[in-house]
Amino acid sequence: MYCPVCTCKTTRVVDSRLAPDGMTIRRRRECEKCSYRFSTNEYSEVPDLTVVKNDGKKESYSREKLQKGILMSLAKRPYTLEQFEKLIHSIECDIQKLRKKEINSNEIGEIVMKRLLVFDKVAYIRFASIYRAFEDVNKFQKEIRSLKPTKKKK
Ligand SMILES: [Zn+2]
Repeated sequence: MYCPVCTCKTTRVVDSRLAPDGMTIRRRRECEKCSYRFSTNEYSEVPDLTVVKNDGKKESYSREKLQKGILMSLAKRPYTLEQFEKLIHSIECDIQKLRKKEINSNEIGEIVMKRLLVFDKVAYIRFASIYRAFEDVNKFQKEIRSLKPTKKKK
């Protein structure tokens, strides 16, 4: 990998660390020319996957699109970039576990919701209200009520 500072081709790995969940390897690298140190992350990538949208249209899976949708629901919520990357990665792992060549956008939505529910409940509600076709409004309201922390009256 080239050095991002001087674009020299010889960088060496000074340290590699496996993440606690065993799903990511983080490497510290050092440029042999300018001594600049930087890190790279290695993780499995979703292979060729076709997403079938609700209207039947097909498109290839895009991490960017996934991230965009989730970022929207996370607007103004507290989280770090590292936590966000972990979230995206866990979603992609779930997608890969299905071992499919084609996946419905609904299926991806369900996976995202499952992960968001643990990650951030407000983001979950935002995401769910857009992506899930709730059978009826009551069910949705019930779901929201069950997520709200019980506030004590003053
Ligand atoms: Zn360099």
